[in-house]
Amino acid sequence: MSNKTNEDGIKAIAEALRAGGTLLSTACPVCDSPLIRINDKIYCKVCNKEVMIYKDESELPKEVQRALKKNAASTGDSNESKVQQTINKKIEALRKRLEEADDPDEIIKLSDAIEKLHATLTKIRDE
Ligand SMILES: [Zn+2]
Repeated sequence: MSNKTNEDGIKAIAEALRAGGTLLSTACPVCDSPLIRINDKIYCKVCNKEVMIYKDESELPKEVQRALKKNAASTGDSNESKVQQTINKKIEALRKRLEEADDPDEIIKLSDAIEKLHATLTKIRDE
């Protein structure tokens, strides 16, 4: 037998259905088996554990939302991180101009702009 786990899983699913569970169209994110709803809770009978399904991110616990946000920012594919990248680039460009600036007004203007961009960056990061 090559697929023993899968067979056991199917058996477990069938048993859960007999016991009054409802077969869902959603698949388990871990093993891709059909999920079963029992008493308002969703289980994967193959993984043999409860599975949490959320319709959208706002339903997730706060810590999970924060972790997801942090993750998205570090992988660089969220809108937020694009804004951060742009601000970082601007800060870098302003820093270079500041290095070469002689005029006191220019220096004040540049450092003021850098400081404001930094504050924006910190604000985005902490949100
Ligand atoms: Zn599973």
